[in-house]
Amino acid sequence: MNPVSPGIPPESLAGSCLCGAVTCEVRAPFLQFAHCHCGRCRKASGTGHATNLYALPANFSWLFAAEVPAG
Ligand SMILES: [Zn+2]
Repeated sequence: MNPVSPGIPPESLAGSCLCGAVTCEVRAPFLQFAHCHCGRCRKASGTGHATNLYALPANFSWLFAAEVPAG
């Protein structure tokens, strides 16, 4: 929740994978906010639903992707 304007999303949100090797940013305007209960979202989130925020592809950017060492 935006502490300045409760209920109004901020202009941009930053995200990353769990280890931080990949980072991204998504910018407003956001098209839709939804909780999805489909099987893919339940599996991906490990819960009963996933919380999804939709935006136009042009408003999404990969910021950084570290080279992953061969396993
Ligand atoms: Zn889903």
